[in-house]
Amino acid sequence: MSVTYLPLEAWNKHWTLDGSLVRCRLCGSVQDLTDAGAFRHALGCKAWGLQAQYPSGELAALLQQKIQAGLF
Ligand SMILES: [Zn+2]
Repeated sequence: MSVTYLPLEAWNKHWTLDGSLVRCRLCGSVQDLTDAGAFRHALGCKAWGLQAQYPSGELAALLQQKIQAGLF
């Protein structure tokens, strides 16, 4: 069975890390990795008004999956 890295690549299409900050690639808004609240996009961002997003939690879940799969 081949292991895919696609989920992490997909995450990285929308978000980027700047130190301990998660940044939206579309609007440039940031949120600290330790902030468990929903991400707040800038007005006018394509992702603004969509369902609540938790990029920090998503990244943690992705990394956790990789650890459990023995990739790290
Ligand atoms: Zn945004």
